[in-house]
Amino acid sequence: MKHAEILLTGIVQGVGFRPFVKRTALHHGIKGYVENREFGVKIIASVQKNDIEEFLLDILNNAPAVSTILTHSIKYLEHDLQKFTTFEIAPSKKKGEISALIPPDIATCDKCAQEIIDKDDRHFSYPFTNCTNCGPRFSIIQSIPYDRKNTTMKKFIMCDDCNREYTTVADRRYHAQPNACPKCGPELRLIEVVDESPVVTERREKAFDKTVSLLKNGEIVAIKGIGGYHLVCNALKKEVVEKLRKLKYRPQKPFALMARDIETIEDYCEIHECEKEMLEGQQKPIVLLNKTNEILEHIAPGVKDLGFMLPYTPLHYLLFKHFQLLVFTSGNISEEALENKDDYAYQNLANITKYYLSYNREIFNRIDDSIVTFAETKQILIRKARGFVPKPINIKKGDGKPQIFAAGADMKGSFGLTKENIFLGSQYLGDLAFASNTKFYKESLEYFQSIFEMKPEVVIADSHPNYFSTRFAQDFAEEKELPVHYIQHHKAHIYSVMAENDLENVLGVSFDGTGYGDDGNIWGGEFFIVKNIECERFAHLNYLPMVSGERAAKEPWRMALIYLFKYFPDVIDTIIPTATFPQRDMILHQLLNDSVRLQTSSMGRFFDAVASLIDVCQYNSYEGEAPMKLEAFADEKYSEYYHYDFNKQQSLIEVPLIIKGIVEDILEERSKKYISSKFHFTIAKMVFDLCTKMKNESGIDAVALSGGVFQNVVLVNMIKRVFSGSSFKLFWNEKVPPNDAGIALGQVYSFLLKSR
Ligand code: ZN
Ligand code: ZN
Ligand code: FE
Repeated sequence: MKHAEILLTGIVQGVGFRPFVKRTALHHGIKGYVENREFGVKIIASVQKNDIEEFLLDILNNAPAVSTILTHSIKYLEHDLQKFTTFEIAPSKKKGEISALIPPDIATCDKCAQEIIDKDDRHFSYPFTNCTNCGPRFSIIQSIPYDRKNTTMKKFIMCDDCNREYTTVADRRYHAQPNACPKCGPELRLIEVVDESPVVTERREKAFDKTVSLLKNGEIVAIKGIGGYHLVCNALKKEVVEKLRKLKYRPQKPFALMARDIETIEDYCEIHECEKEMLEGQQKPIVLLNKTNEILEHIAPGVKDLGFMLPYTPLHYLLFKHFQLLVFTSGNISEEALENKDDYAYQNLANITKYYLSYNREIFNRIDDSIVTFAETKQILIRKARGFVPKPINIKKGDGKPQIFAAGADMKGSFGLTKENIFLGSQYLGDLAFASNTKFYKESLEYFQSIFEMKPEVVIADSHPNYFSTRFAQDFAEEKELPVHYIQHHKAHIYSVMAENDLENVLGVSFDGTGYGDDGNIWGGEFFIVKNIECERFAHLNYLPMVSGERAAKEPWRMALIYLFKYFPDVIDTIIPTATFPQRDMILHQLLNDSVRLQTSSMGRFFDAVASLIDVCQYNSYEGEAPMKLEAFADEKYSEYYHYDFNKQQSLIEVPLIIKGIVEDILEERSKKYISSKFHFTIAKMVFDLCTKMKNESGIDAVALSGGVFQNVVLVNMIKRVFSGSSFKLFWNEKVPPNDAGIALGQVYSFLLKSR
């Protein structure tokens, strides 16, 4: 009799994995046992060799949907083991021996959704119904091992019925840590703020019913969800949406929507198969979908998509018995951190609403809704949070390396930690220019270190000297006497794609809005050759003086003025008249005196300038507004383009001809659609041309594209079209966002590549 030891790592605890292994073993007639181990499970099985391989294949192919198997291995044991007569689940080891990965929060499963509408089921109408296959996880886990007593469910003592489910191996709720029912679990409360103090006015069904009538009457209600509060209101009532815009200081930024079902979404958007799968899957993020009409224009003015999600908690399902469509936007003030603590929510959201549909279970980890978009079938993570965090990423080069803390970047905060071949990225933490987000960053880092038992030995930060994340990393390293390494921002973007695909040599195209360059300028339109560990800047967009610094990023007309001043000054009065832009002459004065030191090669700013030139957006009221509105005018099927020059001596992409071409088209009154499409295709062609040059120089044919500009689906699709049929292999981010929230993974990988 042979014995085999099977090791599986990943998210295989707290997801019904051991009962699944037991069922599978019984099916295969295999004897032995399964037990939880550090970062995974161990199976000891005694059978013939072929059978074991079939057994493993069955496990890999049919693992519970909520699990993530990161690695698997079989070892055949030579020495004799005891003879097994059954297949058993071994009791859990004590803490210290087990440090597992924990699952993300999982959307309500079909069976639970069914039970809450079944009058005869004891979970009928219960808003906190869950099972081993669904429910809150990351947001409620306080410490490991993942056991009820280590979650915010600990104060609820299971009733007999729940306990029976919890202890029955064959039950869907076996070891479902947040298991609860109306008899023993959390309950709803409607809280109203009266004279600045919160008062519970209704409980349970009455709280729910009152919420429904408030929403029907056009009120804004803050509703406590899985990872924080949402601000909810009727999406079709323009007055209340406008009111919410005003109160939330979001004049233009799109609001997320929740719809009852796919059919409802189809009234407003087209849905492709991959988008449908994502909408209905267990992660239930916000999915950006192409608008098919203007009915909801007030929800997402001037952009091409609407962000939709489907109900993902029992409470949502119950609400959507009464509604078809609601605004479901994060319960925070503009860019600030999400509210999770009830008392803070009442204070900080006080000017938005006095109604809070809350419940008496604490949210331990704040986590926002994730946002996903698709370029054809390619998934682009815009915001990585609920449902995706804390899923690990396998980085093979991490084996045998020190543990790393990578601080990420500031615009979209997200750090990463590694232990051997496991990379764990934090949830999206917001813009670290805001104090509430830096606090969130610190709390989340504390949590990740303790829950995953990480003790970083190396610290990596962006080379930006004034980033919060950089200074924080320095303090962190100093306190713990650790070495700090710095990696240039745009190189890190490229390394993040390399990490996902385990690449060593690539041609890198790094386009974003801003990042600190090696020469102290603001980079963002960069081409790199990464070869033999060296990363060399091959070319970049020509530099422009960044007059008015950060303000130029907020006000696209300033960038347009800089471009015109440099390349087509004759038309300034026509296109940027001083009557409309009174501060114009002051900037021209600075430009004439040549007094601006700071230069930028940013592709994001180039998009801003073009958006301003064709009068699509002159002021950004949210990050990315101008390029998103420019993209809305672009048609990915266009193939006309503007010319540009490549200055080989100085490795410069010179764009005066693009600016001249656009201005001529404006003066000829060509449509916005025409100019925007032509501009987008110009950039797609530029990427291809430069990659061809870099390939000729280096012999490398793998292309890595990263940076916030690659959230632009029209551009991505055009690039795919231009490259199709070529010998290049294109790589993009899929597991982390292409924006700055993906930087930490790149920081880690650059260190691992160099430290071999
Ligand atoms: Zn369930
Ligand atoms: Zn119960
Ligand atoms: Fe960036």
